[in-house]
Amino acid sequence: MEQIYFDHSATTPLDPRVVDAMMPFYSADFGNPSSLHWAGQQARQAIVQGRQQVADLFHASPDEIIFTASGTEADNMVLMGVAVRYQPRDCHIITSSFEHPAILETCKHLEKLGYPISYLPVTPDGIIEPQSLRQALRPTTRLVSVMAANNVVGTLQPIGELARITREHGALFHTDAVQAVGKIPLHMDALPLDFVSMSAHKLHGPKGIGALFIRRGTVIEPLIHGGGQERGLRSATENVAGIAGFGKAAAIASAEMSTEASRLVSLRDRIINGIQTQIPNAYLIGHPYKRLPGHICLGFAGQEGEAMHLMLALNEEGIAVSTGSACSSHNAGQPSYILMAMGMDPVRARGSLRITLGRFNTDLEADTFLKVLPRLTESLRHITSRSFAAVA
Ligand code: PLP
Repeated sequence: MEQIYFDHSATTPLDPRVVDAMMPFYSADFGNPSSLHWAGQQARQAIVQGRQQVADLFHASPDEIIFTASGTEADNMVLMGVAVRYQPRDCHIITSSFEHPAILETCKHLEKLGYPISYLPVTPDGIIEPQSLRQALRPTTRLVSVMAANNVVGTLQPIGELARITREHGALFHTDAVQAVGKIPLHMDALPLDFVSMSAHKLHGPKGIGALFIRRGTVIEPLIHGGGQERGLRSATENVAGIAGFGKAAAIASAEMSTEASRLVSLRDRIINGIQTQIPNAYLIGHPYKRLPGHICLGFAGQEGEAMHLMLALNEEGIAVSTGSACSSHNAGQPSYILMAMGMDPVRARGSLRITLGRFNTDLEADTFLKVLPRLTESLRHITSRSFAAVA
């Protein structure tokens, strides 16, 4: 059976060029980058190159990139690393109500420690409005954290504007750009951002390696203490193969982003239009065009309770999509807090299908999907109406 992977917001397949860049560090180039001999220096060189490649993707400087083990760790590092510099009563933090759990759970932890946190509302099409930030700022606001692109609905946030407002106020601005990095341009010489979190496995790089951009001159406290690697901000022997892979993935994204983004936008819009003509009760969730190039989030009016069945039926046909984010598989069947934050009622918020495209998806795969999905929604409709009839 043909297998089609349409779940790139969960993770992406490794680009073979990335695998090639990583392989030497699993064999001949095994050194510890802190060692002063030849083996260590080979590994050190790979880190220097990886850091430069990641920095180039952001138009940043290599000394502004700190490698972490994940996007989650980068998010924790910012929130905790800023908060612990202040007394809780003197450190108000603002975030949005539809961030990834890496932000929201860390904020909950900080609330338990006494830090006041405000959660910005989200519009029904999944956007955080600058006006709501202006209203939430307090004299003690130290940090604002708003994601660049949402992981479930794919909407892009006005982070340039939000960051400008934050800077005028004298606070620091962080964006969780895990979903946006490598897909849309994020240039640190043009955007007044202080921190940016990223993760290699979302851009055809390896799992287990992330990074945090920290603008030069911005001070945070480390979360992990030890041998002083990563300028003392993240002690631990570096993941050399991961850094080499992340660097290569960033270099490929820098070179190919604009052509790849337009290819994905047309593939995405072809799928959306095809679905809307063939499946009359399908509706697009999130903003029609302020969204990631390859991101589609759909609801099916009257069939919201069937989203999980639809996902499993697609899986039977070899097509991998998701009903929300991978992180929410632990809460399967519960309404999505992200859709609830956008004002959906709990019934609608239970049933979305997320289709996210990536580098190796083809027109042919889109055609197959457009043949299979209408057939499956139709047969599920029969099941739904039969079970309603049985109950009646
Ligand atoms: N932030 C966002 C917006 C995400 O989508 C994800 C992962 O899905 C993360 C953070 C966590 O990244 P990682 O898987 O590298 O921990």
